[in-house]
Amino acid sequence: MAKPVDTTEESKKKLPAMPESIERAQQVAIAALERLENLHLKPVPHLYELWYRYYEGDPEIVRAVDNYQGTFDENTCLKMYKRYLGSTARDEAVRKVSDQVQMAITELAQALGTVKSATSEYGENLDEVTEKIQQAESLEDLGDVVSIIIADTKKMVEKNQQLEGQLETSVEQVSELKKNLDNVRKEALTDGLTGVANRKAFDKNISDLVEESLQNQTPLVLMMLDIDFFKKFNDAYGHQIGDQVLKLVARTLVENVKGRDIVARYGGEEFAVLLPETPAAAGLKVADMLRRSVESKEVVNKTSNEALGRITLSLGVAEYIQGEGVSDMIERADAALYVSKKTGRNRVTAAEGTNLGEGVINDSRL
Ligand code: GH3
Ligand code: MG
Ligand code: MG
Repeated sequence: MAKPVDTTEESKKKLPAMPESIERAQQVAIAALERLENLHLKPVPHLYELWYRYYEGDPEIVRAVDNYQGTFDENTCLKMYKRYLGSTARDEAVRKVSDQVQMAITELAQALGTVKSATSEYGENLDEVTEKIQQAESLEDLGDVVSIIIADTKKMVEKNQQLEGQLETSVEQVSELKKNLDNVRKEALTDGLTGVANRKAFDKNISDLVEESLQNQTPLVLMMLDIDFFKKFNDAYGHQIGDQVLKLVARTLVENVKGRDIVARYGGEEFAVLLPETPAAAGLKVADMLRRSVESKEVVNKTSNEALGRITLSLGVAEYIQGEGVSDMIERADAALYVSKKTGRNRVTAAEGTNLGEGVINDSRL
């Protein structure tokens, strides 16, 4: 069976790269189609895209597929598609609703255009009628002119009523579509499983906050958090319980941060927390509070009420160094997280270059 070309640890961290050559893209496409054929699945877009991404080496999909024990029937594949590629589908939904809003706005503009031209036509008719009044020689002539005015005005009123109705519908349509758009936009930035910010939202948030930190010279803390031995947990109790654990961790993080702090799911079982206007020493304290809070929770199987034990987090904390790139900051926090893993897990490590302030020790259980 063909395997994704590059599944090294290093490549797993990166976003999926586009196949760099036509031949490579063809190889990936053929592998995806062959896999679909072997699985007796139709080469419809979603199924094809899932397997294309797999052979392309998308780390999340490779991990999900390789860890999956069951058969890849259509249902399973579509579920995986929804979970890992769903945000692409949501992007498409955002585009569609945006197009609809655009269309409604165009219709509205057209309706307004018609009002304008009808009004100016009415104005022109009035000018003509004024001239006729001045030239009228008898009461009869005036009567004719008045009939014309009445007919024109009636036409104008009717047109206005019609346009008013049209405008009302358009306004309703636009506000309904705008609501849809807001919902879809929100969804596109939210992680479907845990409800926290997704990777896309995180990328945007961290750039904005770094920009803010540079402009206002305020400190900014980034924390990377990874669940310890999560694979064991998943293997022992199954994916669904694993998902419950991810939700529990996300909830605990959200409950324990405040104000403008941002919790995001960075990837599989890795989270990121951003603390604006926070110096490293305070960030380390928050990190340790989060670590303890997660450690204190007992995981319970909701259906059987069976206690499944506790889970722990390893964390890396970096304070933004003025002038460094966003990716440098993420790398430093990641490296610190790696140190936490290497030195025993369930701990917080300050990243290199982080100004610890007084009385705070590196690599600490604070
Ligand atoms: P370490 O302490 O070194 O972090 O070990 P680990 O087992 O947590 O790390 P590893 O990277 O080996 O395994 C991560 C596991 O996370 C593997 C994968 O099955 C699981 N995982 C990733 N995303 C999801 C998800 O969305 N749901 C579930 N249930 N499991 C997931
Ligand atoms: Mg882990
Ligand atoms: Mg991990």
